[in-house]
Amino acid sequence: MQGFSTRAIHAGQDPDPTTGAVIPPIHPSSTYAQDGVGGTRGGYEYSRAANPTRTALQEQLAALEGGRHAFAFGSGMGASDTLLRVLMRPGDHVVIPHDAYGGTFRLVDKVLKHWGIEYTPVDLADPRALREAVRPTTTVVWAESPTNPLLGIADIPASAEIAHGAGAKLVVDNTFASPYLQQPLALGADVVLHSTTKYVGGHSDVVGGALITSDDELAEQVRFTQNAVGSVPSPFDAWLTLRGAKTLAVRMERHSDNAERIAELLTAHPAVERVLYPGLPEHPGHEIAAKQMRRFGGMVSFLAAGGSGAALRICATTKLFTLAESLGGVESLIEHPGQMTHLSVAGSMLEVPDNLVRVSVGIEDGDDLVDDLRAALDAVR
Ligand SMILES: *Cc1c(COP(=O)(O)O)cnc(C)c1O
Repeated sequence: MQGFSTRAIHAGQDPDPTTGAVIPPIHPSSTYAQDGVGGTRGGYEYSRAANPTRTALQEQLAALEGGRHAFAFGSGMGASDTLLRVLMRPGDHVVIPHDAYGGTFRLVDKVLKHWGIEYTPVDLADPRALREAVRPTTTVVWAESPTNPLLGIADIPASAEIAHGAGAKLVVDNTFASPYLQQPLALGADVVLHSTTKYVGGHSDVVGGALITSDDELAEQVRFTQNAVGSVPSPFDAWLTLRGAKTLAVRMERHSDNAERIAELLTAHPAVERVLYPGLPEHPGHEIAAKQMRRFGGMVSFLAAGGSGAALRICATTKLFTLAESLGGVESLIEHPGQMTHLSVAGSMLEVPDNLVRVSVGIEDGDDLVDDLRAALDAVR
C-alpha cells in the first residue's frame, strides 16, 4: 500500500479526464443529464444522493482510514445522528464515554431519548467497567480516544473485543487523533467517525463530518439513510475538506511537536495543577496511547491551580492563542470548556471541572506559542 501522504494527495484525485485539471473540480450541479431514462453517467442523478466532488473526498477519506467505504456529511453531528439511526431501534442501548464530546451526549440524552434509546456513560479506559455496562440490548459501543476535552484514552482493541462479544458494533470518534495518528479500523473498530471540521479540514474554514467503514452491509444502510435524511455537505465544503486533508501528515507532525513543548511548559509551571496530555508518561492512558497512536496530537488540557477565576483569566490573557471554540486548525486556540464547548453537559454526570482550560496547539512557531502561554500563566501566579 502507498504511504499516508501519497494517498492523501492522490486517492480519488486522478486528473479530470476531459480537461486534464489536476485538482478535482467543484461540481455545483444539483442534477445530471441522463442518456435515456435511467441512463446515468457514472451513477450521478441528484446531488443529495451523490456528487462527484463529494465522491473525490470520500475516496480520499476511505484511503486515509484504510476503509472500503467513506461518507462525507454536512457536520460531525450529522454523521453521528445518521449512524445512530442506522444502528439503533427503540429499546436499544448504547454505551458512551463518561467524558464524551458534549454534542454527542446532547444528541443521545436530549434528542434520541425521545425515540426510546437508552445509554450508559462509562469510563472506557477501564475495560472491566465496559464489560459490566453492556446489556443484551446494547447495539453500539461508542468510543472516543483521546476524549474531548479531558484527553482520556480508550483501549480500542479491548473495547472492540467486548463490543463484539456482546453483539454490538464499536464506533470510534477519531476526531482528536486524525487518521494520521490513529487507525481504529485496523484496531478492531467497525466504524470511524470524524468531525472533519477539526484536523482533517485543518484550516477552520469548513464544517463537516465523515463515517468510514469496511462493513459492506453497514455501508449500504448508511448510504440509504444519509440520502433519506439528507445530511450532506455542499460541493464547495467537500472540496475545501479534500484540499485541507492533503497536508494532514505534515500538519499533525507539527501539531504534535508544538503540543509536546506546551505540555512541557505547563508541567513545570506553578500556575498549573495538572496537565492532561497522553504524551506525558504520567498520563494514565500513556502506555495504551503509545501502542495505538503514532504520536500524541495537538490537544492539551490543564487544570489551573488558582481555580476557575485563574482559568478564565488565562483564557482572556493569551494573544496568539485565540479565545474560541473548535480545534484542529493551523492557528492556536484556547478555551474554557465548562462555559464554552461543554456547557451542554453542565449539571449532568459529564460535567467538566471549572478550572479546566483546553488548548488546540496550532502549527505556528513553537517558541512564539511557548512565550505567549507562559506570559498568561505568569500573570495569574
Ligand atoms: C467537534 C466534534 C464533534 C462534532 O462535530 P461537528 O463538525 O461540530 O458537528 C464530534 N466529536 C468530537 C470529538 C468533536 O470534537
